[in-house]
Amino acid sequence: MSETKSIVQTLYTSLEEAVEELHRRRRKDEALCRTVAEFQRTHPPEFLDGEPRAMFARYVVTPGVEFTRLQAMCRRSGLRPLALKFLDDKFVARNRDKHMLGMLRFRSGNGSRKLRTVNFCRFEGKKLSKVQCLSGQSLPDFHHRLLEHAHPGALGDVVDFSAWFRASTRHDHYYLHWLSLFVTQGILFENFFLDDPEERRFMEERIWPSFTRALELFGVKPLIVRLFTPEEENTPICWQYPGELYPVARDLLNGSSKTEVLSRQHPQLEARDTGRYGQGIFAASDIKAGTFIHTLGGARISLDEFVARVRRGDERLDDALQIGKKTYLDLDEFSRLFNHSCAPSAGLRQANELFALRDIRPGEEITFDYSATVAPTVWRMECRCGSPQCRRVLGDIRSIPKAQLDQYRKAGALQRYMQALLPDILSGSYQIPAYERRALEKLEG
Ligand SMILES: [Zn+2]
Repeated sequence: MSETKSIVQTLYTSLEEAVEELHRRRRKDEALCRTVAEFQRTHPPEFLDGEPRAMFARYVVTPGVEFTRLQAMCRRSGLRPLALKFLDDKFVARNRDKHMLGMLRFRSGNGSRKLRTVNFCRFEGKKLSKVQCLSGQSLPDFHHRLLEHAHPGALGDVVDFSAWFRASTRHDHYYLHWLSLFVTQGILFENFFLDDPEERRFMEERIWPSFTRALELFGVKPLIVRLFTPEEENTPICWQYPGELYPVARDLLNGSSKTEVLSRQHPQLEARDTGRYGQGIFAASDIKAGTFIHTLGGARISLDEFVARVRRGDERLDDALQIGKKTYLDLDEFSRLFNHSCAPSAGLRQANELFALRDIRPGEEITFDYSATVAPTVWRMECRCGSPQCRRVLGDIRSIPKAQLDQYRKAGALQRYMQALLPDILSGSYQIPAYERRALEKLEG
């Protein structure tokens, strides 16, 4: 048996076997679960919430055929997907995965049809998060919007793990920490293309030594399932997009305004200039009180990761929505357009669901009260919403006048996590957590 063949046989597990084995380890092998937790102690993967996941990692998560395949595997395995993105890397055209982000190939009959999104020369070597499409929008945002269109809600299961990966790989074995995620916490869906010399070297020098080390350390294999069959591997299908996404991607790219894309998803909404504070979202038709408006989308990130992004200048402090004590959504381009008002027309319920607080007439702006989403902290923002009740300076939830907060509570316009914290906040026993103070001090420092 050739060496490659034996590597491949050891490396992959079949889907059925992997799922069974994952559940067995989690239910019956407490010692193994403890060993993994102990190994990850210095760099715990905070993006995991304890639920076993079908994991998938790419620089930018995009709805190519491989994503469709991941979703199918999730349905078969009963596992929820978790797509990990690594935006903290450079755009290099000769890297196949990165090239694919700039030159999309859509399935079309037996062939494919191309769509170029990026001027490769202009952005070679630049950070992925800074790369712009030909239309001027950011490349990751373009792919995320395409993803949201193809798989509504999928962005909620996308996490940037750059910070965790960078921190954990300062240690001896580069990919050992990475592979430790697939021992008891989930399954990795991946293909290693061993016919490609660069990929083969990556496998032989990085993955394989760490894989064998993981075997020694944990006594069992990390669970890796092939996304594509050996027959499909190295055929164009692995790098293509479903054909029906071509017109959507083309519209997104042709500088088609947000309004056009929007109008297909949300006939009752339109994005336009507010004339006072940049763009906003407006009702295009009557929206009755209590009606669902939009699920605010974006990648789930930790407070530390968010602070790191603000410090790098990638984000502004008000681009994130708090959805848990330590969890935030780095809002997508569209979701960021909903402005704050001290007399809002909409509210948030569940984690990130926007709904009408009152009847909204066509032409009225859809706004919500940012303070209602912010747990006690030192965050402040100046307000120029212009409503008679304007508070001028926005703080966290404690800055909302009591009568108004009561109205939000009665209307169900508080997120789940906030409802859970509220009794402590109102009684004054809620303490701003130490990690939050530390994170915010970093912002000032
Ligand atoms: Zn105001």
